[in-house]
Amino acid sequence: MSQTATKPVPVPDEVSAPFFDGAREGRLMLQHCAACEKWSFPVRERCPHCMGAKLAWRAASGRGTLYTFAIMHQVMNPGFAADVPYNVSQIDLDEGVRMVCNIVGLANDALRIGMAVEAVFEDVGDGVSIPKFRPVTG
Ligand SMILES: [Zn+2]
Repeated sequence: MSQTATKPVPVPDEVSAPFFDGAREGRLMLQHCAACEKWSFPVRERCPHCMGAKLAWRAASGRGTLYTFAIMHQVMNPGFAADVPYNVSQIDLDEGVRMVCNIVGLANDALRIGMAVEAVFEDVGDGVSIPKFRPVTG
């Protein structure tokens, strides 16, 4: 009898539900401050720039550039064993926030700092989708 390990799946809560609702519909949702007009990520209850409490969810462009990345060779969780080596990347979104994610759609040795990327969404089960990024082509 064999058992296949599965990846952990995020569990949305009341605060993060709009992020995951958007991801399931193929939209990258971020919080935007009505007071200072800045975007924030990760999810917060107050604006990290002005401490304002009026954060509203808005669809972001889904576009950004690769800030940096690391290649994971070690299996830290058995659910990811089939994926090693895989990249863990930081994306600077056009909205001015940085997001940690995976870049898909190209070999790890083709990753280049500063390359233009756009969000894609992967269904990871349990009704949850998460953003990943792929190179912008053309
Ligand atoms: Zn603010």
